[in-house]
Amino acid sequence: MGSVVVLAVFAIGYGAWKWRPANNQNYPDGTFWVCQNPACKNEFVLTVKELGEFQDKHYGQPVMCPKCKQQNTIGAERCPSCKKFVSRAQRAATCPYCKQNMNAG
Ligand SMILES: [Zn+2]
Ligand SMILES: [Zn+2]
Repeated sequence: MGSVVVLAVFAIGYGAWKWRPANNQNYPDGTFWVCQNPACKNEFVLTVKELGEFQDKHYGQPVMCPKCKQQNTIGAERCPSCKKFVSRAQRAATCPYCKQNMNAG
């Protein structure tokens, strides 16, 4: 169990390094989120400011979906090719929708 956690952390760290080289402090388009409520599946964008304000009020809590108001959301990236939201749970080097390189553009 412990080694699985370590591996997961390593994979996330490696991914962050690979996909966001040296500039992950900049979110020019805001931060992308996907609602995991199966009845909702809302995709939404929070600016860095909005995200900061939410976290000030709800420290350590998941971001709330503005549509269904559930805090059942996961961070996402937007595919530079097809512009679909790809949640971190789905994340791979290529987009699951259009199969293009997620790091392009
Ligand atoms: Zn929702
Ligand atoms: Zn795509």
